[in-house]
Amino acid sequence: MTGKARHVPLRRCVGCGRQRPQAEMVRLAATPGQGIAVDRERRRGGRGAYLCPDSKCVKRALARGSIPRALRVPGDGAAWAGQIPGSGT
Ligand SMILES: [Zn+2]
Repeated sequence: MTGKARHVPLRRCVGCGRQRPQAEMVRLAATPGQGIAVDRERRRGGRGAYLCPDSKCVKRALARGSIPRALRVPGDGAAWAGQIPGSGT
């Protein structure tokens, strides 16, 4: 390593707990009245939760209820899970 050319923001996956560059991850956000949804453009305000685009992480997050906890909203089912690319829907 000879120093970092640029800073890459890292986010922690709520499924596996690993850190990855934010750009590689799926952002989930809770919108009042609409519940939890995938934030494709990463522009929704408020609290976000990040997941690897990996069905294993999605399943793990679902099993643990990590997303509602991370977003501090009541659990509202798993409608968001079907919106994740590669989650095998
Ligand atoms: Zn993960």
